[in-house]
Amino acid sequence: MNPLRSVLAIQPGQPASDGAGVRLNRVIGGAGIERFDPFLMLDEFGSDNPDDYIAGFPPHPHRGFETITYMLEGRMRHEDHLGNVGLLQSGDVQWMTAARGIIHSEMPEQQQGVMRGFQLWLNLPAKDKLGDPAYQDIAASKIPRLSTSGGVEVVVIAGQFDDGKVQQSGAVQRPHTDPQLFDLRLPAGSLVAPRLPDGYRAVLYVYEGVLELPGASAQDVPAGHLVRLSDSGELQLSSRNGAKLLLIAGKPLGEPIVQYGPFVMNTREEIEQALRDFHDGVLA
Ligand code: MN
Repeated sequence: MNPLRSVLAIQPGQPASDGAGVRLNRVIGGAGIERFDPFLMLDEFGSDNPDDYIAGFPPHPHRGFETITYMLEGRMRHEDHLGNVGLLQSGDVQWMTAARGIIHSEMPEQQQGVMRGFQLWLNLPAKDKLGDPAYQDIAASKIPRLSTSGGVEVVVIAGQFDDGKVQQSGAVQRPHTDPQLFDLRLPAGSLVAPRLPDGYRAVLYVYEGVLELPGASAQDVPAGHLVRLSDSGELQLSSRNGAKLLLIAGKPLGEPIVQYGPFVMNTREEIEQALRDFHDGVLA
């Protein structure tokens, strides 16, 4: 067997507030994001208290990257300056390519109950940062799912799942960074060994239960923690009592990252241009 990917870090998310006061768990973001290239941010939101989510995300801009929203539970309405309107419901994914600019709102379409999900930011290569914006809603029924021989349920949102026995293309494929985004649901006593190309950055985010990692750096990873892995080697994921996690991987861009809030470009000058364009009403 080839060596396992080693564990570089295990870290909890940080409580944060964004939009008009939505409470969330910031798993990736802020200082040190280069380590997660091509991913820029991962937020988890989850609450049954409407005070934590009801304010939503009123109209705001993005430039230079893509946002991927994955709803586990709840209803969220998206509207943007291009005229797109979408209602994200349990299990749905929204893949938005902001590129040169999108101004949108993301508002809860519920007054009570649980709202739960994730938003992941994926960087764009320099040559595509000022390309045309795009948007797609992918209904849960259109997202491939499979069960491995070990009984692990896999929601293949993006990329290509392959454990050596079953292969399944995800709902979305993107060039350059080839993002892999899988929701893995491990029943008690199960094991799964997804294959990833060498050189791809990879992280795991456990959102329920406890994940066990084997090998020299064997350890238990409880819910709410991110695991940062080395860029090559094999993966073995198991759980004694059951776990649910996101596996997120992709090809690093290796380009400079300059972020100012919702603008992610390669240079300060490009950020200043984004701010001017937004101020002048020509960002999007
Ligand atoms: Mn947004």
